[in-house]
Amino acid sequence: MAQTGVQIISVEPGSLAEEAGIRPGDTLLQIHGEAVLDQLNYQYLITREDEAELVLRRPDGSTFSAHVENGGEGIGVDLAQDEVKVCKQNCVFCFVHQMPKGFRKSLYLKDEDVRLSFLYGHFTTLSSSDDAELDRIVRERLSPIHVSVHATEPEARIRVVGNPREGDILRKVDRLLAGGIDVHTQAVVAPGLNDGDIWQRTVADLWARRREGRGSVLSLSCVPVGLTAHREHLPEVQDVDAAFARDWVERWTPEVRKYAKANDGEPWLLLADEWFTRAGVEVPGRAFYSRSWAQLENGVGLVRRFLEHSRRFIKSPRAKGFAGRRVLLLTGSSFAPTLSRVAVELNRAVGSQLRVVAAKNFSFGDSVTVAGLLCGEDLRYAAHADRKDRGERADWVDAVVVPSASLRTTTGPTDQYTLRGAVVREEGTFLDDLTLPDLATDLGVPTVPSGANLSHLLDHLEAADRGAFRGGALQSAFHTAGLNLPQGAYNP
Ligand code: SF4
Repeated sequence: MAQTGVQIISVEPGSLAEEAGIRPGDTLLQIHGEAVLDQLNYQYLITREDEAELVLRRPDGSTFSAHVENGGEGIGVDLAQDEVKVCKQNCVFCFVHQMPKGFRKSLYLKDEDVRLSFLYGHFTTLSSSDDAELDRIVRERLSPIHVSVHATEPEARIRVVGNPREGDILRKVDRLLAGGIDVHTQAVVAPGLNDGDIWQRTVADLWARRREGRGSVLSLSCVPVGLTAHREHLPEVQDVDAAFARDWVERWTPEVRKYAKANDGEPWLLLADEWFTRAGVEVPGRAFYSRSWAQLENGVGLVRRFLEHSRRFIKSPRAKGFAGRRVLLLTGSSFAPTLSRVAVELNRAVGSQLRVVAAKNFSFGDSVTVAGLLCGEDLRYAAHADRKDRGERADWVDAVVVPSASLRTTTGPTDQYTLRGAVVREEGTFLDDLTLPDLATDLGVPTVPSGANLSHLLDHLEAADRGAFRGGALQSAFHTAGLNLPQGAYNP
């Protein structure tokens, strides 16, 4: 974040900026005598007072000042995209370290940026944030922030984040809380690493920091560790198997309810869906999840929300739009049982023929079961295998559906944030660079994203009926909810 000034890429005609002689290519250096760090900082500084003293630099290196009476509003400039702050930590379960070789470069970029934490709900360990950056969060009121605590016991935390200087996460959390910043927290749990007494202490320490008013720990989620088949030269980490997940669900489900009761009925301790899918048990009812679906992007409550919506949808007249449709739904093996159940109910209710197939993740390995990490080739393989099982008929289904979460619309430098140099792929790209139109051409049937619920899915199938989607405009032709877009990407 130590950038000097931010470049102006366009100036709105007739704007205050144009009147002040500001031109595209100039660099905005200071507002009110304070250095402009990035877009977020510009927003904070320019809206702070009714007038602003600006210092800018021309492309030839000369500087000039401008005074604007902006009434606390923007002055009509577009600023260049910010560089993402790159992580220099070594968490034992960092997903990027476990990526197979051969994917596009952008997917190996690790981000650890408090601005993304504030803007999009990405989790940050705060390991790359010094006191000056924490003070900036307070000064600019970047609240709430999402923090990967992992463990409050210092030695355990050091083992997790792989940095001997980052054992005392509570000091940083406390600095934010004292400044009135709210914090959502999470722990990625691995057996023998930060479970047992260490986890209990984490829960107790963070619960003690929940309070009325500003500066509170708003929630704590636990997520089972995700390991791929590509952990060469990395520390030993034990996976969460079905037995461990079952024990965890049994032990902590009552605790979730206990903490909710003590928190005026609002769930505070949150269990990610993956505990239940790995344990092979039904996810709890609506009351188990926060009223505002806190940490939904972190995989908490996605299954329950889908089931709730499906139940209502199947009873609605709109559900008849599925009647007679023969559709193959591809998804990850963790979500397949839930989706199959819903498909059976829908088929029974309206006479559709929806079938669910769990696509195996050949790219990352069997242990990766979430839909969002399926690659185009995995989905292609699963669809072809299904066609083979059905006697190789070209018209074996009317349409194939792929998980929206497996598609991206930008390809780097990081897929999670639109940056300078990013390529916007309107047609939708899988992790392995196969595009949705490529897949549709290969399969020879309309191939659409799932959307976030059955209503979205029907919209997509109807759009395909009309030929509305022909190799482009993913975002304009389809619902963006559930797509792995820069806003609020799930960050495993
Ligand atoms: S998990 Fe996050 S903080 Fe840890 S090494 Fe990876 S990118 Fe960095």
